[in-house]
Amino acid sequence: MPEPLLELRGLDAFYGDFQALFGVSAAVGAGEVAAVIGANGAGKSTLLKTVAGLIAAPRRDAVLFDGEPIGGLPAHQVVGRGIALVPEGRRLFPSLSVEENLLIGGRAGRRGPWSLDAVYGFFPVLAERRHVPSTALSGGQQQMVAIGRALMSNPRLLLCDEISLGLAPVVVREIYARLPALVAQGTAVVVVEQDVAQALAAAGRVFCLREGRTVLQGGAGELTREAVAAAYFGV
Ligand code: ATP
Repeated sequence: MPEPLLELRGLDAFYGDFQALFGVSAAVGAGEVAAVIGANGAGKSTLLKTVAGLIAAPRRDAVLFDGEPIGGLPAHQVVGRGIALVPEGRRLFPSLSVEENLLIGGRAGRRGPWSLDAVYGFFPVLAERRHVPSTALSGGQQQMVAIGRALMSNPRLLLCDEISLGLAPVVVREIYARLPALVAQGTAVVVVEQDVAQALAAAGRVFCLREGRTVLQGGAGELTREAVAAAYFGV
């Protein structure tokens, strides 16, 4: 693999005294979709939050972005470097319109091709609903707002936490169908995904976590169902 865009080197993470990640190592290249899979509580969200700076990584050099150590940087600085998180549960501002939610995403980010118009071009349904409160949208449309808000910061790496949770399969397919257009522009995407089949279909590389440790990683096409099941359940 060429120089990875994101590299984790022995990443630990803690909630107080509780250790949630143990020496996780992984690499994701520019223009790649990687999926993190694993059972409830495996540490998937913790991994994304630690990369995004919402949980402090204990060591600066445990997270390298474009070769620069960024572990432990505060979240707003991480966004400024070009990493955006689509959080689990979307976390939209309910009293704000679609457009206002999107504009908030642009405040901390970098300069780049993403703008309101670009997001509306990417998710045309949002243009029609731009002045509607975000709570009036369907779940799938709300997820598009959450992704659009992250894109407004012009990320080079987009971290998506459970974007398919609670959505109908047809909507999940619609959202995943947009990822190739993103990576074609060189953006890397890391998705945390409960649906293993979806993860294997969408991602080039898959990481399986169990109890805070990487128990399997490889190209999605190289991993057998048996190997994934064994890693996932630890059987
Ligand atoms: P899920 O699919 O349920 O979201 P996950 O793989 O994303 O699972 P995490 O949410 O990263 O798992 O949780 C990893 C571990 O850290 C779990 O044991 C969880 O109980 C613990 N944990 C998560 N958040 C906190 C917190 N705020 N305080 C203390 N422990 C936490």
